[in-house]
Amino acid sequence: MKVERLVRCSRDLLGLDLGPDTQRAFSLYADELLAWNQTTNLTAITAPEDIEMRHFLDSLSVSLAIALTPNLRVIDVGTGAGFPGLPLRLAFPHIELTLLEATAKKTAFLEHIVDHLKLANVRVINARAEEAGQDPASREKYDLVLARAVAQMPTLGEYLLPLCRVGGRCVALKGENAVAEAQQAENALRILGGHVEKVIPVELPQVAETHYLVVVQKIAATPPQYPRRPGIPTKRPL
Ligand code: SAM
Repeated sequence: MKVERLVRCSRDLLGLDLGPDTQRAFSLYADELLAWNQTTNLTAITAPEDIEMRHFLDSLSVSLAIALTPNLRVIDVGTGAGFPGLPLRLAFPHIELTLLEATAKKTAFLEHIVDHLKLANVRVINARAEEAGQDPASREKYDLVLARAVAQMPTLGEYLLPLCRVGGRCVALKGENAVAEAQQAENALRILGGHVEKVIPVELPQVAETHYLVVVQKIAATPPQYPRRPGIPTKRPL
């Protein structure tokens, strides 16, 4: 698949210059996504222009909120087929990326794509956020914790904040209800050691609805009882 629209919009909207190797990597990623999607349920978005805008460009919009500096430790929670983490890793090759995903079929695709694109400094973990957040190897180890389309803000806070170091940031990619959701989650976020720093609107070409980046700063350690057991953050949100 060609990615000319992505290249143009990344430059015009985000000020990102995607070089030839990066463009080739995006093309291969899109081709493999579509090929695997024939047999594994990875995405409902399959039109080439939608993959470019709704998957790739939307993922790259995180760069409007955060400087993706070399060696930044980034984790993408509930990454599915790699969004938003993998496009960010292709455009910012010097970050250290972990992709966390609960569904084994999806992590099989992620392992394939990391191998196929020969990506260094990318780790794939097949686990739930509630498990990773209590694992000393992952707890409060990341500078930047990302998620798109995983859960409502109070639940999402319990998935993301335990993984974030104090002083780091979480960015949730959200739809039209972002501002209300962020307000409703203030109490949950405070319990978990975070607060909403800003909400940034993002207008993507060919996408009618406004997207939002909800940026949460981690200002205090998360109490040890969080995250609770798998399923509890959804069943009984803070
Ligand atoms: N972030 C991707 C995107 O925007 O295309 C995937 C979104 S998909 C709607 C939600 C994903 O989150 C699914 O792949 C699901 O398996 C994963 N997920 C949901 N809850 C999770 C949890 N507690 N821990 C890890 N992954 C989770």
